[in-house]
Amino acid sequence: MGSGDETPGPTSFTRVFGVGSICQFLLLERISDVSEDLLTRYEQYMNPALARIFRFTGIEAVEDHGKGALLWDEAGNQYLDCAGGYGVFVQGYQHPRIVARAKAQLDKLALSSRVLESRPAIDLAEKLAHLTPGDLQYSFFCNSGAEAVEGALKFARAATGRSKIVSTHGAFHGKTFGALSVSGRPTYQEPFLPLLPNVERVPYGDIAALRQAVDSNTAAVIVEPIQGEGGIIVPADDYLPELRHLCDAHGALLIADEVQTGIARTGKLFAVEHSQVVPDLLCLAKALGGGIMPIGAIVGRPKAWTFFEHSPLIHTSTFGGNPLACAVAVEALDVTVEEQLPERAAHLGAYFLQQLQLLRARYPLAIREARGRGLMIGLELAAPGVGGALISALFQRKVLAVYTLNNERVIRLMPPLVITQEQLDEVLNRLNDALKEIYADIQDLLE
Ligand code: PLP
Repeated sequence: MGSGDETPGPTSFTRVFGVGSICQFLLLERISDVSEDLLTRYEQYMNPALARIFRFTGIEAVEDHGKGALLWDEAGNQYLDCAGGYGVFVQGYQHPRIVARAKAQLDKLALSSRVLESRPAIDLAEKLAHLTPGDLQYSFFCNSGAEAVEGALKFARAATGRSKIVSTHGAFHGKTFGALSVSGRPTYQEPFLPLLPNVERVPYGDIAALRQAVDSNTAAVIVEPIQGEGGIIVPADDYLPELRHLCDAHGALLIADEVQTGIARTGKLFAVEHSQVVPDLLCLAKALGGGIMPIGAIVGRPKAWTFFEHSPLIHTSTFGGNPLACAVAVEALDVTVEEQLPERAAHLGAYFLQQLQLLRARYPLAIREARGRGLMIGLELAAPGVGGALISALFQRKVLAVYTLNNERVIRLMPPLVITQEQLDEVLNRLNDALKEIYADIQDLLE
């Protein structure tokens, strides 16, 4: 674990919690003219409010290139990436095999005529049918996680002839209308009300609450096998099996949103495999694109696909299933399996979590809990404000980490699965140093 066995000494708590002093803390390294110009243009032409947040948090570097678990900015700084593109970079940045496959397909045909059959799409669908558990068989391809969720909600309605959807508090399923309607953070929903009707939300992990909510009007229950943006919440082992029984008992479909957990992240290719549950519809995106191309997929059991019989074009997407994205996804899945990335996530994740728990014991006032599965790990912090200071202190030390979107007390650590143990040790060293720096401020505050 390297440096930092000594007890951290006191400094001013305002450096952690005060607005002005956070800025002072963060702007230790002045940004280059290049990134300042870019941020000004970001402010001018994209999102002024977000540009202000970038300035405020001091994250003013411009990404340039990546390799494996490393990202470089335009100024040549090298970062250890523990944000993992919010789950995109399972196979790492610019995996050579996936890049080569993309280049080869790009030279042949990038987008589909939408008239002839497309080999990469059919290859990918067949591969997913073989790799996904149980009798999950058919695939529909789209371009993002939210689109996969959107489609799954429609499929569930069409397959059951019912409209009620049960989802969970803290859930994150995307920000298009349907996906937003079943998500669990009111802040993101309120300006867009009314959303989809007939959605009932229950606490995540609470099977008794699900028993109350699921009934003969329920089209589907949508759930993340591990809540990602909700704060890396791992449910009890019997949660998904119980949920499967409940759905079967009421004729409701089970939608597993594996947009974030899918493709090896949690130590299995799909997180539902931890509990041997086969969902009726499985949503994938993020890492399916191998860190190279955007792609989403809905994979379904035959019973969730019969409605296509009545109208084969009832759900379509112009770009969905394009040859470039599908060829890349085929290669990404091959790389994931051949490089044994699920096993790697399980092994490295167990090591990392154990070390993080030692850090928790060393800094109990800062870290309330270290939890997760595989390399999907969350640090729940003890007080509001600690997260921002820690993310910034890590950024100063060239480690990238981010909040979970629906739970600002939790910082996620989701490095690419190709990260080495030496790189994880370096993350731990820098995390220790960062915690040491902010710890005394937290002590001051809590006293
Ligand atoms: N579902 C889950 C579980 C997610 O974590 C996310 C994104 O973080 C989404 C859906 C939405 O995916 P996208 O941002 O690609 O629309």
